[in-house]
Amino acid sequence: MDVDGEPCACGSRGCVETIASGTVIARRATGQGWRPRGWDRTAVAVAAAARAGDPMALDAFDRAGRALAAAIAGTASLVEIETAVIGGAVAASGEVLFAPLRRHLATYAALSFVRGVEVVPALLGAGAGLVGAAAVAVELLPDRALDMGEPAPVPPRGC
Ligand SMILES: [Zn+2]
Repeated sequence: MDVDGEPCACGSRGCVETIASGTVIARRATGQGWRPRGWDRTAVAVAAAARAGDPMALDAFDRAGRALAAAIAGTASLVEIETAVIGGAVAASGEVLFAPLRRHLATYAALSFVRGVEVVPALLGAGAGLVGAAAVAVELLPDRALDMGEPAPVPPRGC
């Protein structure tokens, strides 16, 4: 994403996660001068502030949305996707994330088939990744691995 970007937890550098994660959104907002009304300094509190129109909170989500838009546009240019599903806790932020994301995607989408990409939140919410991993694991199991065995035989009736 950003070849000179911040180191990422995955071991790489400049991944979308280093720009658009909840932790980074909260850090960006506080770095811009945003201060929470209570003790909550997470992206959830930043999202609430953004909904209330706080410019520093809006800026933090705008930056995250721009990074996601650039990543989606790049991916869609390579593999021609029709829908980008955004999961993880940040997706629960709703329109404070999705509105700037869609606005920036319109800017980054130069190719006609990229302009039509739909961006939606994961229906399974923050647990979507885990559910997907479990589904893949089940697919990889041998056919009978999940069988619970044959039903117990019915004892023969007495004569
Ligand atoms: Zn990474």
